[in-house]
Amino acid sequence: MSGPLLRVENLTKHYPLAAGFLKKTIPVVRAVEDVSFTVDAGETLCIVGESGCGKSTVARVLMRLAEPTAGRVLIDGTDIAGLKKHALRAYRRRMQMVFQDPYASLNPRLTAGQIITEPVENYERLSRNQCQALAAGLLEKVGMSPEMMHRLPSELSGGQRQRLGIARALSLNPSIIIADEAVSALDVSVQAQILNLLMDLQQNLGIAYVFISHDLGVVEHIGHRIAVMYLGRIVELAPCEALFAKPVHPYTEALIAAAPVPDPTRFRLEAVVEGEVPSPINPPTGCAFHPRCPLAAERCRIEVPSLVPIDDGRVVACHVRAPAANGKAQPAAAPVGTPMCSS
Ligand code: ADP
Ligand code: MG
Repeated sequence: MSGPLLRVENLTKHYPLAAGFLKKTIPVVRAVEDVSFTVDAGETLCIVGESGCGKSTVARVLMRLAEPTAGRVLIDGTDIAGLKKHALRAYRRRMQMVFQDPYASLNPRLTAGQIITEPVENYERLSRNQCQALAAGLLEKVGMSPEMMHRLPSELSGGQRQRLGIARALSLNPSIIIADEAVSALDVSVQAQILNLLMDLQQNLGIAYVFISHDLGVVEHIGHRIAVMYLGRIVELAPCEALFAKPVHPYTEALIAAAPVPDPTRFRLEAVVEGEVPSPINPPTGCAFHPRCPLAAERCRIEVPSLVPIDDGRVVACHVRAPAANGKAQPAAAPVGTPMCSS
């Protein structure tokens, strides 16, 4: 099949808030605004950004746990919104999800074996022996002993529970797994084990991931391409190495500068950009980052910047660093590395 495995086009999700009596306009939370990206088979696309920027909303819409306000989600070129029941079920199998908190997402009354085989049993009847063989095989795939199939989630460690969540996601042989903060609740050493497991599974099974995290260190480890979100929009999308070597959007630059690294010369985000993420109910005009951006110019306050291709497969939405002129890409205007900190 040519073309990307997953194509997300202009995805928008607004949550209407409770309407006031006789109020003309209902306020909405602009959780996701005009987000587009693709994911190839076997690729890891990471979505990174501060809490509240819309990452989980993207995941929920991809999984059809929420309806998009606008935009399309295509798998192998097919718009899943247009599918009837039977075809939708077939497509649903291909996209599975792993959640942040496996404890909350695993039924505490079921054994590990029952948890893993449940998704398959939604599609086909399995004998007791088939269930056991399936559970044993999946547990081995995620590095657990088959005997663990008799345990309850409460009898497993945090890392084992997350392995179980991954085994359950694998049970339907998906082409793509959406992992939302899948390692964020784990200790750093366990995080590394789970990330390595995900990468091994990708190598062996060719699975693609949409890997969502607020943690740049984690996405640098696992990502092929990184999408940086700010207040519902993608502000920069670039191959992983290029993004970390040369962030172009001032927000990406600030995020990287603020990441906890054992380098005392790096700043924390609060030191680099002032203020907090504004409310998505009343987002700033123009570029949503302009109130915090040290490079902000007049145009940034007025006009929403569109994503402009720069080089090395990167797109950036910034009037200063990637100005769009007559629809054509321009070389970066303000030199990258312009100090972000006024002091
Ligand atoms: P992230 O995962 O990046 O932390 P979310 O996608 O969870 O961000 O949230 C994005 C914004 O949408 C936040 O302001 C959040 O409060 C809001 N939001 C999320 N879900 C709902 C909902 N069901 N109703 C109203 N607002 C929501
Ligand atoms: Mg989230």
